[in-house]
Amino acid sequence: MNRLPLSDISSTATLLPGTNTTCPYCGVGCGVKATVTDVPARTVTIAGDENHPANSGRLCVKGSALGETVGMEGRLLYPEIRGERKSWDESLEFVAAEFSRIVREHGPDAVAFYVSGQLLTEDYYVANKLMKGFIGSANIDTNSRLCMSSSVAGHKRAFGADTVPNCYEDLELADLVVLTGSNAAWCHPVIFQRLKAAKEKRPGMRIVVIDPRRTATCDIADLYLPVKAGEDVRLFNALLAQLASRDALDHDFIEQHCNGFVQALAAAQAQDLAIAHLAHDTGIDALDIERFFSWFVTTPRTLTLYSQGVNQSSSGSDKVNAIINCHLATGRIGKPGSGPFSLTGQPNAMGGREVGGLANQLAAHMDIDNPEHRERVQRFWQAPVMPEKNGLKAVDMFEAVHAGKIKAIWIVATNPVVSMPDADRVRAALQQCELVVVSDCIADTDTTRMAHVKLPALGWGEKDGTVTNSERRISRQRAFLPAPGEARADWWMMAEVGRRMGFADAFAFAAPADVFSEHAALSAFENDAAHGRRDFDIGAVAGLDAAAYDALLPFQWPIRSGEHAGTKRLFADGQFFTADGRARFLAVSPRTPANLPDADWPFVLNTGRIRDQWHTMTRTGLSARLLAHIGEPFCAMNPDDAAAFAIREHDVVTLESRWGLARARVQLTRDQSAGTVFMPMHWTGVLSSHSRVGAVVNPVVDPVSGQPESKHTPVRVRRFDAAWHGFVLSSVALPLPDQDYAVAVRGGKFWRFELAGENTLVGPTELADELLKTVMQQALAQGRATETLEYVDASCGVYRRAVLIEGLLQSVCFIGPDSGLPERRWLAGLIGGPLSALDRRALLSGRAADPAADVGNIICACFAVGEKTIRRAIATQNLDSVAAIGACLKAGSNCGSCQPELKQILASCQVVEKTPA
Ligand code: SF4
Repeated sequence: MNRLPLSDISSTATLLPGTNTTCPYCGVGCGVKATVTDVPARTVTIAGDENHPANSGRLCVKGSALGETVGMEGRLLYPEIRGERKSWDESLEFVAAEFSRIVREHGPDAVAFYVSGQLLTEDYYVANKLMKGFIGSANIDTNSRLCMSSSVAGHKRAFGADTVPNCYEDLELADLVVLTGSNAAWCHPVIFQRLKAAKEKRPGMRIVVIDPRRTATCDIADLYLPVKAGEDVRLFNALLAQLASRDALDHDFIEQHCNGFVQALAAAQAQDLAIAHLAHDTGIDALDIERFFSWFVTTPRTLTLYSQGVNQSSSGSDKVNAIINCHLATGRIGKPGSGPFSLTGQPNAMGGREVGGLANQLAAHMDIDNPEHRERVQRFWQAPVMPEKNGLKAVDMFEAVHAGKIKAIWIVATNPVVSMPDADRVRAALQQCELVVVSDCIADTDTTRMAHVKLPALGWGEKDGTVTNSERRISRQRAFLPAPGEARADWWMMAEVGRRMGFADAFAFAAPADVFSEHAALSAFENDAAHGRRDFDIGAVAGLDAAAYDALLPFQWPIRSGEHAGTKRLFADGQFFTADGRARFLAVSPRTPANLPDADWPFVLNTGRIRDQWHTMTRTGLSARLLAHIGEPFCAMNPDDAAAFAIREHDVVTLESRWGLARARVQLTRDQSAGTVFMPMHWTGVLSSHSRVGAVVNPVVDPVSGQPESKHTPVRVRRFDAAWHGFVLSSVALPLPDQDYAVAVRGGKFWRFELAGENTLVGPTELADELLKTVMQQALAQGRATETLEYVDASCGVYRRAVLIEGLLQSVCFIGPDSGLPERRWLAGLIGGPLSALDRRALLSGRAADPAADVGNIICACFAVGEKTIRRAIATQNLDSVAAIGACLKAGSNCGSCQPELKQILASCQVVEKTPA
């Protein structure tokens, strides 16, 4: 059998000064310049790539902090089978033999791959080829199912292909930008920065934000429409009806290039269009609805940006089509500054779609349920088999694992035990699965804990390949660090298993360039007028040699054979990818979500991202800077709702649904509409005892796309009746305490643990002994002198302990009857240093000796500027603008991600100042 050599891979990585690569986080796909300044220490300087068209040198705070996430901590370095280190040869043989056996005994649908939008296109291509063409099942799905599969379905229904018509230049060219279901300020920050800059340059440009939550994105909005969750179809249908009644239709475009308009309009007109009723149903003020309609009617250059708020819904595909209908009706598609523009969540969600990484796709934008497509791909791959039916989509896939129908699953670069809806059931499914293989770069995740086989993968900065961003731009991700331990590329693992399953010729790839070349060739294969033109075609880059592949510059697809430049916009010619070349209007009607709130479950839970974290925090959680802004899981709640349930700011609450529970600290805000709560998606079972919000989310899916309804779960919220609260700061890493509420937060040179318990403490001393056991044991083992300072007030349940080792403060533990414990930041500043007499007194009294040491919550993560510092400076220096804050404190002057919050702080200071005493 011809196999790739298992030589010392550490020596094979390219070490270049100043490598141009691409950010591994959101779908903006920013170009990054990474410069390694110390190879053994893996010290890397990060800057934005000024020549990358997506960002022209800009980076958000997550991108800027990439250098802090490339260390060796927590890495999975060697293959393991059932907890024992094994060689690659043994591990790959085992996986191949077990997958082959299960396929032989139970058929190809008894195995599955669950992959990820974090993968490079080359990894995705090989995984898809192995499952669909050689194992013979379509059971490969991706976490992109959770992110944008409704957009894929909407595009295919309207355009005949999964085509994004626009490019980022449209952000600057639009006169009206509608952001719906998109908190771009936090989730696509560089898009937000581009919009903000465009608006500053052209103040006449209007921005409308449609969202149930008033998010940071509203900072640049001329109009904010607080739509009720799930009511988007009603709003856009009413807009379509308005466009018709106000003679704003592009009749020529509809007649020459579209089908189905009459039916779509009839469906829109069938709903109650009376403005008062529309206002009532959508929750938006009638005048604001009319203003939005007027602006849309009168602005030819209208761009609608939409994201997870639209996609993650049981009617997500219909929402997408309701938006697209309005653009088709006005002919505002394929033209500069106009179009429906889906913002993808993940760095390579688009690349996954290109290679067929979803269970209902084939490869190169072809379809499993099209016999001609199946035959073509089979012939191209010279594949022995090809599935004739779609595979199982993510939620159904884990359900089949739970039912024992899928007996082996290979999970690649994703953490479904955290991110899937009904996540406890996903964990239970994996616990009883015959074979769980997980390839990841991190050793300990909620999902690797379920693995029988762990395979160490290359991480960002080590792997090499391509990604595609939201505007169809393919960019290289390049290696600039050596592979740690025995970590290998995901495409290589898949190819090796394919070879060992008996398909050596089909998986004879020696490098990612080989995979890319085959992928590009397939995209162009029989892709012409005679066979029917497909949208995805990168034939011009098929057959690149290794050097040309390495030097590849970012380009937008399609770029057909013989062409020298990519395509900015599609559909400018009014030609679509349907059989008759015409776009399709979809007749859609508002649908209520499957699960509605009631007396038992009175709130609607919305989930989503926060500014400085990415997915399940396995990478961003390594950066103390990124945890300085928000370090603890929170539940945003309207103050009136909270008052009705006797919940106060900073209380720990329990969110419960019919599926599970999660705990978080309450954040009261009028930005959260009454009857709704919001909780971030990021916290895991590794970092918290009970804060995986996926456990609460209902597993309802959109019937068309299979995308879960992650933004609408009926829940109840009750105050967690803690008998005690506490926190620990420790320079020594401690295991996550086994408490009712426990969250681990990384600091600069310490760990912080936030704690609360339901049962009255028998003795706080015993709890402190337990919490700090590791610190004391380590000191004892090393023969180092310890000193313990203690303060006990038994009458009010207050206990404080500090541990010094050889005169330096190592740990503190504070326990009290309520959450009003001292500010952690000034205490954290003392960790690792000697204590003056003043510090000792302050520490035990729980109050900073110097009030300026208490900086408050970090707002600007780039320069670690806290809210209290900002408020003090505004008051004492008479600061009256974000620019003035930047000039005084530097806050907001680097990546700009915190500028919306600075503006809010300024506004609240001005309100306080103007309020008469
Ligand atoms: Fe990375 Fe997205 Fe931030 Fe750009 S905007 S730096 S792609 S996280």
